[in-house]
Amino acid sequence: MSSVQIQCTRCKNVFRDRAGRLQDGYSRQCPSCEVVLFFAEDSQHPFIKRAMRNARKVRKEMRELETAKLAAPEPQLAQPRRFAGRTRSAERED
Ligand SMILES: [Zn+2]
Repeated sequence: MSSVQIQCTRCKNVFRDRAGRLQDGYSRQCPSCEVVLFFAEDSQHPFIKRAMRNARKVRKEMRELETAKLAAPEPQLAQPRRFAGRTRSAERED
């Protein structure tokens, strides 16, 4: 789930690597033809661009999932009070 597809720029072989590793400056060998692929944000190659874009997306989804997990128990406890009390006296202070 946290890995992305990478297509080799030389032999077109498709393999997978972890999204967490696939960042600007990362390099790895193709398991098929052993050419070293370099991953840079400013890469012009469509295969590299696509892999970087996918990795960014997966990392973002993972962050959001973690944030949701951490935030989940809170809102249910915090919210009811705010709407329970009268707000008119508070408005005047502003
Ligand atoms: Zn290859």
